[in-house]
Amino acid sequence: MGQQQKIVVVGSSNTDMVVRVKRFPVPGETVHGEEFSIHPGGKGANQAIAAVRLGGEVAFVARLGNDAFGHQTLENFKNEGLDIQAVALDEQLPSGVAQIMVDASGENTIVVASGANQGLLPQQLEAHAGLLEEAAFILTQLETPMETIVYLANTYGGKGKKLILNPAPACELPEAIYKNLYAIVPNEEETKFLTGIRVTNEATAVHAAAHFHQKGVQVVVITLGAAGAFLSTPDYTGSLASPEVIPVDSTAAGDTFIGAVAAGLSAGMDWVEAVTFANRAAALSVTKKGAQPSIPFLQQVREFN
Ligand code: ATP
Repeated sequence: MGQQQKIVVVGSSNTDMVVRVKRFPVPGETVHGEEFSIHPGGKGANQAIAAVRLGGEVAFVARLGNDAFGHQTLENFKNEGLDIQAVALDEQLPSGVAQIMVDASGENTIVVASGANQGLLPQQLEAHAGLLEEAAFILTQLETPMETIVYLANTYGGKGKKLILNPAPACELPEAIYKNLYAIVPNEEETKFLTGIRVTNEATAVHAAAHFHQKGVQVVVITLGAAGAFLSTPDYTGSLASPEVIPVDSTAAGDTFIGAVAAGLSAGMDWVEAVTFANRAAALSVTKKGAQPSIPFLQQVREFN
């Protein structure tokens, strides 16, 4: 393994507010809720925390409201050991929140109010250009404005920085972005959305990966849930299995996987090693409830058989 390289995650942070209900209310109706809980979430934050818990040196570029949720979240980031010099508090917009209802059957409805995440614009990246310049790996998702992703791709993609995109939640991407991506890490749904190809076996995975490679993406990783992940690089094409576990809650499995890939690569692993490591970390996360509480630490992944 080589020397530790820096990771910068540019992305969202939300506070998830979860109410369990017997059944969902219909419009105009009030129902009694049961258990209520508040958890830190947001794909950017989850991935940054996964990368730092799994041994990465990680700075997070994000935007929170200057409110109780924002302050609490900032404290949480500090405790996790993230570099938060580029986490800004927005004076106008509130912290991003997700209101989640889960019914007796486990079905959920989610309303996300992005708040300050929508204020994470290219100016904030320009203000922290020094931090981004130091990064070997830049990791981002699609819960912040597209102009920020485009700016990242144009400014840092393919210029010695390795830009990794998790295209979630799926939305149309400007074509020009692809040629500046080092890697793309979609799940099966996002792959279907972006390529039109439903991944059902190795052949369809190869086909979907080729779609991204043709546009200029060097490395494609398609996550396959319990089946692990499909990896396509100039040197390797094939599926890598995830360890078998008894699943409890898959929330943030994808985020754990991506954070782990970045942490592994930054520690000097090659892609096969990093995806194998990420499968182990993500499988472990599936054995625990919740988003950030389920993200494992490096030692736990090492000890996991
Ligand atoms: P989520 O939205 O639940 O966070 P996702 O849809 O983004 O996840 P998945 O492809 O479902 O992503 O899972 C990501 C990774 O998590 C997989 O590549 C695998 O490593 C691991 N994983 C998910 N489910 C299981 C499982 N049941 N057993 C073992 N590993 C799993």
